[in-house]
Order: sequence, then structure tokens, then C-alpha cells
Amino acid sequence: MRITRLAPSPTGALHLGNARTFLVNWLLARQNGWGILLRVEDLDGPRVKAGADRQAMEDLRWLGLDWDRGPVYQSPRVAVYRSTAERLLTAGAAYPCVCTRREVELAASAPHAEDGAAVYPGTCRGRFKSMREAEGAAGRVAAVRFAAPEGEVEFSDGFRGGCRFDPAKELGDFVILKADGTAAYQLAVVVDDAEMGVSDVVRGDDLLDSTPRQMLLYRALGMGDRLPKYVHLPLVVGTDGRRLAKRHGDTRLSYYRQRGVTAERVVALLARWCGIDAGREVSANELLGRFELGRVPREPIVFSEADDRFLRD
Ligand code: GLU
Repeated sequence: MRITRLAPSPTGALHLGNARTFLVNWLLARQNGWGILLRVEDLDGPRVKAGADRQAMEDLRWLGLDWDRGPVYQSPRVAVYRSTAERLLTAGAAYPCVCTRREVELAASAPHAEDGAAVYPGTCRGRFKSMREAEGAAGRVAAVRFAAPEGEVEFSDGFRGGCRFDPAKELGDFVILKADGTAAYQLAVVVDDAEMGVSDVVRGDDLLDSTPRQMLLYRALGMGDRLPKYVHLPLVVGTDGRRLAKRHGDTRLSYYRQRGVTAERVVALLARWCGIDAGREVSANELLGRFELGRVPREPIVFSEADDRFLRD
């Protein structure tokens, strides 16, 4: 059976942009008979907000979206991620890294990855024989970094078509286990998607350049035959072209909900952002017969004042 996941990060409340991605993910799943897993991605300790997990699930239900399994939380699974990182270390596919973020930024003369993160210059690659040696030499706890192999990675995205990256050049070696012992997003997602049988990943295209990194991890773990199919959707942005965030005012679902805006009104706006004229109110269920991925606009969606007025009146 094909399986997808709704994977909210409980670092804040769902806004209209997240909601649109979740709606599309849910519509594709229910149209195609995929199972849906709800996974709470709560690894980013300092940024996780108490209660944001329950709030996200409540918001999803309010929108009319449901799931078949979960919630599954990532934070109790730290030992699994850690042992996977150790396997990669033993296999020589990863290495201990004692660089601080600041050192990486200073040392990086290389071009910067799209998200603004510095491409790691490889300072610690091949430098230490073991975690213990690294930590002894540096006097601090080491992180584990994946050694991106040379060469291009290609995949066919279900929405964007052919994509091609040169991870070693464009993205660099990336952290899979942080110095505080918690798993980095790239590793946790691959371990979980593989173990939970996820065959279809639908997410915002801010994560497009994570896909080649995740594919490399699948391969390094001997799971190249279990790669999911990917669909990356254009993000919702504000009128300034920047990704929807606090600076664009309050776009949280809870904000509109508290003002008496109905879920059907919100879904009607999200539907319009998917290329469907559904009038003023529509339920997620009613969209099942109408949604087509091919009609979703290819450009970023701009959340305008007119959209805000549409929701409120
Ligand atoms: N938890 C991630 C987010 O909220 C999604 C990760 C993924 O879909 O791979 O952005």
C-alpha cells in the first residue's frame, strides 16, 4: 500500500501556506487511496512550542483533513537516529565534525546554498579517526556530518518534472547528528520515511534541495530501492515575494477561526490557490472530485489583501 505523511513541525501554529500544502497532500492521498500517517516533527528542541502539536492536529481536523495512523512523534526516537548515524560513521559515509557554525561561515568561500546556508568547506572530512579522537582534539562534543559523494543526483518530481542537483558542489557535506546528540532533519526524515513505509512525499519547494540529500542517505543506508516519490509545491508568499511569515500579519488558521471565519471559506481560498474556482465556501471532501495536480499554478502563490478580505467578509 502506498503511504504518505502529514508532518507538521510544532514550532508554531499552522498558517495558510502550510494549510495549502497539507490540503494538497491530503487530496492526493484520498484520491489515490494512499494511507496517511500523521508525524509530529518535534526534534528542533529550542523551537518546539508546548501545545503546538495538539493545535496543529486540531487545525487539520478543523480544515476537514484526517489521517489513518499516528500521531507518531520523533523526539522519543532519538536512539534510532543515533544508531543510524553510527552505522554511517562506521561505513565511512559520515565523519565527526567539530566546527562551530561560525567557523563554517567564516571558512566558506564557496558559493552559498539557496537557503543562505554556507556550503561546508570540508574542514573535518578525513581529519579524525573516531568521535573520541575528534572530541579529544577539539575539547568539545562532535557532530556527525554526511560526506556527500561526488556526482549528480536526478529525480523526477511529480509536480516540477526533472530535477538535477550536484549535492557535493551545491550543498556540501551536511550534519546528520548535531553536537547535542539530536538528529538533524535530513537524517530523521529518511529513517522515519523508510521505517514507516512512506512511498509518497508532498511538501513545499523550500525543501526541494533537501531531496537530493535525502536520496543520498537512502542510498548510503542500502535503501536505494525504497526511495519515495516526491511532489514539491510552490510556496505561498506575501506581496513582497517572501515566504509567508509573521511580517505579513497574522495568517494563522487559528486567527481566522477565532474571528468566526469558517473552515469552508478558508478551504475555498486554498482551492483557488490550487487553480479551482470553488466559489465562497467548499469543504475538503467536496474538492476530492475536482482537484488536479496539473492545474496547480506553477508560480508562487501571493497572499494578497484581497484574499484576506475574501476570508473575512
Ligand atoms: N516538518 C517539515 C515542515 O513542517 C516537513 C518535512 C518534510 O515534509 O519532509 O516543514
